[in-house]
Amino acid sequence: MKKHPLFEVLDAIYSQAKLQYGSAIKGRWLHDGDGCPGCGKEITATKWKKKKAMSLNAFIYREHGVLIGYMLCGKCANHIFAESETNPHGHLPIHDEIEKNLKAAFVKHLGH
Ligand SMILES: [Zn+2]
Repeated sequence: MKKHPLFEVLDAIYSQAKLQYGSAIKGRWLHDGDGCPGCGKEITATKWKKKKAMSLNAFIYREHGVLIGYMLCGKCANHIFAESETNPHGHLPIHDEIEKNLKAAFVKHLGH
């Protein structure tokens, strides 16, 4: 399996999450190759590299104790960024969509 450059970033987030949540976090997984979890649009490897660390997001799938790292396409990232300017702690509808898609992708990954 090819080592993804974002694994380093994910490792750092993972270490922090372990400090914060302890044994609730048992593993980590990088979501890639399935497109943007917000809208399904393809995110190319080039775009991933360009965006780098700053736009790697993380979601904790509690039922599985796994930290999922993911990237959004520019459109979704900008949308969330713009909304968070006016409502920093708000939970947006797009977050539900992202969580739903990440969970589905992870469960699919487990089945392989
Ligand atoms: Zn998107």
